[in-house]
Order: sequence, then structure tokens, then C-alpha cells
Amino acid sequence: MATIFQNGLVVTMDPRRRVLQPGTLVVEKGILVEVSELARRGGASDTVLDCRGRMVLPGLINIHAHTTEALFRGCATDLPFLQWLLERNHPLLKQMLPDDARLAGLLCGLEMLASGTTCYLDPEVWPEHFAGVAQAMETIGLRAGLALALEGGSGYNMEPGKQLVSDEGPAAQLDAVLAWHDAADRRLQVWLGPRVVSAIDRPLAGFMREAVAGLGTGITAHFAEVEEDVREIQRVHGIGATEYLEDLGLLGPQMILTHAIRLEEADLDAIARTDTRIAHCPASNLKLGNGFAPIPELLDRGVVVALGTDGGLCNDTYDLLREMNLAGLIHKANYREPRVTPAEKILEMVTCDGARALGLQDRIGSLEVGKQADVTVLDLRGIGWRPLHNPIANLVYGSATRACVDTVMVDGEVLLQEGRPLHLDCQSIMSQAQERSQAIVAGIGLSDAVRSRWQVQERAER
Ligand SMILES: [Zn+2]
Repeated sequence: MATIFQNGLVVTMDPRRRVLQPGTLVVEKGILVEVSELARRGGASDTVLDCRGRMVLPGLINIHAHTTEALFRGCATDLPFLQWLLERNHPLLKQMLPDDARLAGLLCGLEMLASGTTCYLDPEVWPEHFAGVAQAMETIGLRAGLALALEGGSGYNMEPGKQLVSDEGPAAQLDAVLAWHDAADRRLQVWLGPRVVSAIDRPLAGFMREAVAGLGTGITAHFAEVEEDVREIQRVHGIGATEYLEDLGLLGPQMILTHAIRLEEADLDAIARTDTRIAHCPASNLKLGNGFAPIPELLDRGVVVALGTDGGLCNDTYDLLREMNLAGLIHKANYREPRVTPAEKILEMVTCDGARALGLQDRIGSLEVGKQADVTVLDLRGIGWRPLHNPIANLVYGSATRACVDTVMVDGEVLLQEGRPLHLDCQSIMSQAQERSQAIVAGIGLSDAVRSRWQVQERAER
């Protein structure tokens, strides 16, 4: 019993970057067993998906997405960064019950699925939300790295002496979620997510180094998103932020640093020298007014850079297709040089480079025989795709929207077909999310604050 993708434009992202037109994928037991330009008829027990007029890609990979923030899309608009974080982000997330985390996971996962994402990394899952998020991902069938939120101090963005997440200690926190590691046929993995680099102390660093060696995953932290983070490290430790991380033994391929905006030459060199990975979230950096990460300079040094959408409070979407578009555009203007981020490089960021950043390059990130069957199919027959000379250029620079996502397969299972999720009740998830979000916002007195400044006239009874 095989599933066969026929007649599509197959962009393999294999080491030779072969593009097959038309190409064929054959999937058996969740694994790609054939990727070729040969036509395949298929037997009576096989499922044949005709991909004529469609582009077949490796499933897209989002390496920085806060799942629980999905419940608060649109609740923190046009605010200065620290006000955004301390007056909206933290208070809203703190009100969530375990089942709200599951609901947020369904809402967020649904949106990722519908925009062609098959795998993501949540950089900061609070202990009390972990099981809910993991359950939601198990239900939906997405591949996910869930980084347990950890702290070894307050960091630049909390009052001194205060911590945001449970102070049980990292070992107990990790023990409580370990059952999710390699769960759901190994689609779920536990990562470690110290919130910000200025909230990592030496004992936490030691704990994390040892723990990820056992887990076989990695660590991810928000880094140099704002000047305050870098300044706090300098103030407390008397050295630069990257130097501090290297001193703690935390730079290397097992570390994904997110944002990485406020970097000096020496930081760029250290990141490149140690093969540390970078998560780039252009929409979040733009919306929060935090500036431009020096992505072209990191790419010049050969650093692995992949993309993230960040969360519902700072983007406010989980659509990687839109993120690709922004990543492709903003650095051209910032450097006044259109050649710095070519379309092909942007597509690598959400496929093979995303897989490398997650250490999953042997399993996902390209369409090659022996890899897991994570596949995204885009329909190129709709408005906005013609003329079609260079499909990668159309994909990155404007033709691709969520509306053209046709089919999504994860681990050999079709989860979305003709744009519709097959196993989820979308309307029910969305109406429950609306209800719970409104209740939480009202519960902490933010209803007026989150509304538009424009007065809404409600219909009066005659
Ligand atoms: Zn983030």
C-alpha cells in the first residue's frame, strides 16, 4: 500500500537541488521510497495523488513559534517592546489553564498545517502548558520540538529576583515532561528553552549541556533581541553576550539563537566559528520595532539560518509563506543590495536549513529516498501565479499564500487535502478559541485595552 504523488513540479531540495518536472514521489510506511522523473501507474491498493499544476515541496519547517500565544492573536498591538512583554504577553499567558494550552495548540497547529508547515520548534513551553501543547500536536499529527521553558535568574526582562516560570528547578521540570520525548512515533521531541540568554546562570548552563546530550536534541534561547539583553550580560558578567555563551559552553550546533539582532563583528565570528544556528523572525522584529538582524553577514560566514514566525502576540500569524516573503525582501532594502537574500536561499531556510538547525537533516528537510514523508503541495493554478517562469521566485516574492496550500503529509499520513484539514473540526476549534480568549482577556481587565482605538457602533434595538 503506497501513496504516489504524480505529475507535479517536484522541488526536491536534495544536495543537487534537483527540480523534476514532472516528478513522482512514492511513499510507503511513512518513508519516501522513490523520488524520480519516472511515471508510476500504481496498483489497486495504492493511493494516487494527481499533482498536475502543483508544486511538491518538502514540508516547511518553522524553527521558532510560540504555540500558546495563538490564543491571543491581536491582543498586543503597536506597543513598545517591554510594555508588550510585561503588560500583555506574560499576564495573558499566566492566565491559561492546562486545557487552554491544548486549545491554543489545536488553533496554532491548524494554522501551521493550513499554511504548509509540517514541523516546528516551540522555544518556550511553560511547564504548566507542556502536556496540553504536546497533546494537541499528537492529535493534529505535526512534528514538533517543544522546548521546556527554563530560567537560572531573572534576565533583563523581569524584576530582579523574580522568575517567570516554575521555580521547582530544571531537573524536576524536565522529569515531569520526559514522557513526551520521542512520543507520537518520534514526532515529538523535548528541547530546552532558557527564555533569554541573560537568564542563564552557570548551574543552569551545566544542567542543560548534560541534559541535551542525553536527549539528543538542543537548546534554544532568545538572544540580543534588544539592547537591554546584551547590556544586562555586560553589567552582570562584564563580558559580551556571545562571549558569555561561549564561556558557558553553550555555543555550537546544538544551540539555536533567536533574533540575534544586536551583534558586533566578534559575535558574528564566534557564531560562525562554533557552528551555532540562528532563528530569524522578520515579522516579529518588524512589528515590535526591534530592528534588522544581520542575516546577510551571517549567511556570508556560512552560518545556518532558518525561519520562525514567532508568536500570535508579535506577528500575528503562523504562516511561513508570509515569513519567507518578508525574509526575502527586508534585507535587500536594509543593505540597499537586492542580491543579499536570493529566493533559493530563502526556500532553503524553511526546508533543508530548518532541518539542519533542528538536527533532523537525516530525517526531513528534503525529498530524498529514505527520508520521512513530510510533503507540502501548493496549487499553482490559482490567481496570482501566472506567468510562471521561475517557480521559486514566484513562491518567495508574492504568488504563494495560504490559499494555495493544497495537500500536506506528515510521516506518510495526509493531514490536509484540497486545502481542508481531514481530521479536525476547524469551526469548533476556532469558536472555542474565541470564547476562551475573550474570557481570559476580560478576566484580567484588558478588554478595553485590546480593542481598536476606533469606536465600534453596536446596532441599537428599534
Ligand atoms: Zn520568541
